[in-house]
Amino acid sequence: MNIEVLKGVGATTKNILNELGIYTINDLVNYYPFRYNVYNLIDITNDIDESLQISIKAKVESNANVFYIKKNFNRLTFKAVNNNRVFNVTIFNRAFLKKNITIGRDIILIGKYNPKKNTFVASDIKFKDFDKIKIEPVYHLINGLKYANLCKYIDEALHMELKVDEYIPTYLLEKYKFIDKYTAIKEIHKPSNINILKQAKLHLIYEELFTFMFKVQMLKNNKQKILKPVKNIDIEKVNNLITNLPFKLTTDQLKCVDDIISDLKSDKRMNRIVIGDVGSGKTIVGQIAMYACFLAGYQSAMMAPTEVLATQHYNNLKNIFKDYDINIALLTGSMTKKEKNTVIEKLKNKEIDLIVGTHALFTDNVEFSCLGLVITDEQHRFGVLQRTMLHNKGENVDILYMSATPIPRTYALTIYGDLDVSTIKTKPAGRKEVITTIYNNSQIKDVLHQIYEEIKLNHQIYVVSPIIENNEELDLKGVEELKNKFLLAFNNKINVEILHSRMSNDEKDKILNDFKNNKINILVSTTVIEVGVDVANATMMVIFNAERFGLSTLHQLRGRVGRSNLQSYCSLITDKDNDKTKERLTCLTESNDGFYISEKDFELRGHGDLFGVKQSGEMHFNMADLNRDYKILLQAKEDSKEFIEKKYYQDYKIYDKILKDIEFID
Ligand code: ADP
Ligand code: MG
Repeated sequence: MNIEVLKGVGATTKNILNELGIYTINDLVNYYPFRYNVYNLIDITNDIDESLQISIKAKVESNANVFYIKKNFNRLTFKAVNNNRVFNVTIFNRAFLKKNITIGRDIILIGKYNPKKNTFVASDIKFKDFDKIKIEPVYHLINGLKYANLCKYIDEALHMELKVDEYIPTYLLEKYKFIDKYTAIKEIHKPSNINILKQAKLHLIYEELFTFMFKVQMLKNNKQKILKPVKNIDIEKVNNLITNLPFKLTTDQLKCVDDIISDLKSDKRMNRIVIGDVGSGKTIVGQIAMYACFLAGYQSAMMAPTEVLATQHYNNLKNIFKDYDINIALLTGSMTKKEKNTVIEKLKNKEIDLIVGTHALFTDNVEFSCLGLVITDEQHRFGVLQRTMLHNKGENVDILYMSATPIPRTYALTIYGDLDVSTIKTKPAGRKEVITTIYNNSQIKDVLHQIYEEIKLNHQIYVVSPIIENNEELDLKGVEELKNKFLLAFNNKINVEILHSRMSNDEKDKILNDFKNNKINILVSTTVIEVGVDVANATMMVIFNAERFGLSTLHQLRGRVGRSNLQSYCSLITDKDNDKTKERLTCLTESNDGFYISEKDFELRGHGDLFGVKQSGEMHFNMADLNRDYKILLQAKEDSKEFIEKKYYQDYKIYDKILKDIEFID
């Protein structure tokens, strides 16, 4: 039913409600309050703390007087009684309430009571529905929509013959003794008491998480059903490659390789993610997968989020396979048209076996001759329902994601719920924890001293600033100024270079190469080096204005050092010493464990905007809060699993609609 059937909803109001996503009566009753004002009614006594805001029930004892103090400033006073005590009430700028203050009327006063003066200074007075206003819902409103009106519309809607959709199956409603859906919705808007409100919320939270997990698991099931040609892999050759690597793979890496190979060999399409902390060695795992795919006669592609990273992966592959007869290529957006066309032509003719690139790889004119595997690095920036773009380049290609950002277990379940997960927990043997210290700008000498010590050992340093050019207003030093400062501090005796996103790719490549070859002592950059850059001889990371970065970013940046058995250091420089900043940064000095840090980040920032997931929209829950409701999520997951396995959902017509919704998600 359209909202226009409601009294008072004309074209204007309709448009305003539409803006909030409310089109139907059902949308309206599903527009939940985001919080509640709870008025704990108490009685006034002589012990009341005059500085505390309280709410009391009172009866009006006298008519009200209004004093006009000056323009737009007035005072309304009257007498009221509570707990057998008559006292004065004052409220400012509510002259218009005078007519409502009638002797004998029951009211609720919100404000502060001063026992000595026997005066109550009210910030608000409530008149209606005495018993019910103890808990008052608060809604997100927009211009043109008044609170009272929204409540009125919702109230009217609740009085209509509403057919509310119940998604929780009957047997679970009984198992958990949930109140029925209609009551839940009514109580959400007009809570009778705290207890019922809690039950109502529980119902809606569970329902939301149950249906979400249902979708995610059905999606996973659907994907697992997709068949593809089996890949025949010469395992001996794969093992040879592994044995000849310059290092020994860790147990977790070997386990990942096993998982992947058996996926490649199976007749079901692979949908796997490798999750591992920075520096845990995911790249080599992906590269081995590419080789395995090559052995089976297929092309494979690896997509990286930045050109810097793509180039690094490319050089890496070239290096590993320099003695093999394998054709390797790079494709990025900044290559000339001619270069691109050559690569595209070769891809089509199967003259390229392994290709690395940025998003450019998946533009329309790129065609593969026989694509068998797509690997996406740093995939955590996309959500469940958004990973579709890569899969149209070949017949049911195997799909492997790699995420360098450990995410909280809650998110893993929801974001990666549709994937098989392999985890790399252990770092390569011999790695030392990065020693992390917080400094303020007045201690910069200590940092310089440490840099000097490291340079003497022929080690290299990263310096990161949030911006390229100075910002006077925010008092931020950009990379260019920092470069000059370092040159000055070291009497021009060392090599300092800068790296940032505004440089051309050739320039960037040159700088990174020089840094790799130890021709640069200090590399001053923006966060372009955040993801993936790998130089083992770099042992120190200095981050200016560390307070401006999120915990996960800082952890990623720190992950640029500590990539060999050399002791490494990370200096976080900040002049902000408020508690929040301190708590965040201290977290890094205490731990090198990305999983721990992501949990902390999650706690401190709340759910919603972690790693940009919010932008994907799909992680937005109406009622549920993943952090708070984690236990419910786990339960909902178990329950929806049974619901699917026993095919109970076939008995619920309402699930047909959900299944339709996910049918087209690849
Ligand atoms: P990330 O997981 O962050 O992507 P990388 O794949 O870039 O990490 O690996 C970090 C560094 O560790 C690389 O220089 C890589 O060659 C090296 N590495 C990977 N696996 C091992 C291992 N088992 N032993 C020693 N070094 C390794
Ligand atoms: Mg990586």
